[in-house]
Parts: sequence; C-alpha cells; structure tokens
Amino acid sequence: MAPTAQAAARAEEKTCKAVANGGVGVGKAAAAAAAVVRCHPALAEHKASIRGVVGELLASAGEGRSLISLGVGDASSHDCFRRGGEFAAEAVAGAARSRAFDCYAPSYGFPAARRAVAEHLSAGAHHRTRDSDVFMTAGGTGAITAIATVLGGAPGANILLPRPGFAPYEAACEIAGAKPRFYDLLPRRGWEADLAMVRALADGSTAAIVVINPNNPCGAVYSAHHLLQITETARDLGIPVIADEVYAHMVFGGSKFVPMASFAHIAPVISIGALSKRFMLPGWRLGWLAFCDPNGALKHNSNRDAAECDFWPCLHSSGSSS
Ligand SMILES: *Cc1c(COP(=O)(O)O)cnc(C)c1O
Repeated sequence: MAPTAQAAARAEEKTCKAVANGGVGVGKAAAAAAAVVRCHPALAEHKASIRGVVGELLASAGEGRSLISLGVGDASSHDCFRRGGEFAAEAVAGAARSRAFDCYAPSYGFPAARRAVAEHLSAGAHHRTRDSDVFMTAGGTGAITAIATVLGGAPGANILLPRPGFAPYEAACEIAGAKPRFYDLLPRRGWEADLAMVRALADGSTAAIVVINPNNPCGAVYSAHHLLQITETARDLGIPVIADEVYAHMVFGGSKFVPMASFAHIAPVISIGALSKRFMLPGWRLGWLAFCDPNGALKHNSNRDAAECDFWPCLHSSGSSS
C-alpha cells in the first residue's frame, strides 16, 4: 500500500487521541465539558460509516483471532490503481489557476460539470439524460444525503433499503426523519432483491426504494431482467427507484452492468454516481444525482398530491450557495 494522505491523517489522529487520553493539559473541566456534547444517534460511527462498521466487527472478533479486513474500499491507496487522477489533474489545476471558479457555484453544480455527467450517462444509453437533470454533490455520500432529505422529509415517510446494505443510507434516512425499512437480498439467488418482501413492506408512505447495483457489499451485478422486475415493482407501488451506481461498470468476470435508467420509462429512476470508485478519486469528493423520468411521473406525482414543493426547486435549494 502506498503512503497516502489518509494514512498520515490516521497516524496524526492516533497521536492526538493519546495526548487527549492522558497527555498534558487535559484537566477535569475539559473532560466534563466534552461529556455534555451529544451527537445525533443516527451518526454513531457504526451506523453512519462503513469504517465504523468494519471497526466494530474487527473489535468483536475478540482476542486471539486475526481477521482480514476486506473493507478497505479505497482503491487509490494501492499503487497499482493510482492512475485515475492523471487525466483530470491538469484540468482541475488549470481551473483553479484560472480563478474563474472562485465564486459560489450554483447549488446544483456548474453547467459544464452537469453537461459532462449528462454526456457520460447518455453515451449508448436507452434514455438520454439532460444536463438539467443532473445535480452535482459532494461525493456519492452528498447525493445520498440530498435525496434522502428531499424524498424522506414528508411526515411519516419511509424508504426501502437493501439488507445487507450500505450503512450511510440508514443514517441519511433517520436524519431526514424517514423510517428505513429493510428488504432482503437473497444469497441463493445471486443477492437479488426479495421483491415479494418489497411489496409487503411498502405502503402509502413509501417514498422510494434504494437499489445498489453493482452491489456493495455483496458484489452482485443484476441482470437486465432483474432490473426490469425492480422497476415494474416500483411502478406498481408508485415510487421512484434510487439506483446507487457508484460502482457502475466495475464487475467481476463476464457480468455486464446495465444502468437502471434503461428502464426509466417503467418507473422514474434517480441514479447516484461518483468519481470515487470507478475513477478511483474518492478524495475529490465529486458525485451526482441524475434523474431519468421520460414520462414525467415525478412531476405528476407532486401535482397530484399537492405537495408543498416540487422536486426540482426543492433539490435546487438543498445545497446552499451563499
Ligand atoms: C463508496 C460508496 C458511496 C459513497 O461514495 P463517495 O463518493 O465515497 O461518497 C455510495 N454508495 C456506495 C454503494 C458506495 O460503495
């Protein structure tokens, strides 16, 4: 593994903790003051972050057992993968030097960035993604937080999440005030979604279903047929699919990645993407939400329900720009 800024940051964190735990200058008053700071329970490390989950598992293995952590998740920390940034680093350096981007960006992202993502998603796709359907976010995690906030905020809302799943979704739902409801992935069926369970869990307050494909943590890559079944289920339930495609095109063996948006004419698809995994640039914190809704179902829904806010202006204001 190459020495990365993250490894250096961890080492520094350890030193800081050691100092705080017994080092100089930490009196009783400071300790008491620290004790009254309480954080949102949904943000407990084992809930909100994969590293927290893995840390807890490793700790629970107990003495005398050594476990291998398969939870690294940052390809950029391995020399053999550290090529991703080269193609874009010059462009980013040039943009920074130009001073043209020192200003506040529109909360949904600069037009050129939205256009680049829209073109990337539209290449060879069944449905074209328009620039105006793309919302730039701070990493894939920013996209998760934004969409959970926008969709999960209605009183009593719930969001269907896969189990096993990706921990930050649960935290994002709880912070948005939405109840996470977990549907199983079936190990004997290649970790496909248990759609009978999805139907049983959903009710009139279900705001969306999250589908992670290619799947983290199971590594499954869903067939076009299964994606079709998922969108048909979402259509029957009258909900959009949030398709986490952060691992798009990263598949094992002969599997083929098919974007969920190929079936957006059946149910609206909101896909989540990022530079973190495929482009191996997790530290750049760039992600996006892309809406694919060729039938305009999302607009119709918000009109029908006389919701206080339409999707789009709501998302526009979910990032702050001043
Ligand atoms: C890593 C990951 C994310 C978050 O992406 P970041 O850009 O690192 O914030 C979202 N979903 C899944 C399934 C991931 O593995």
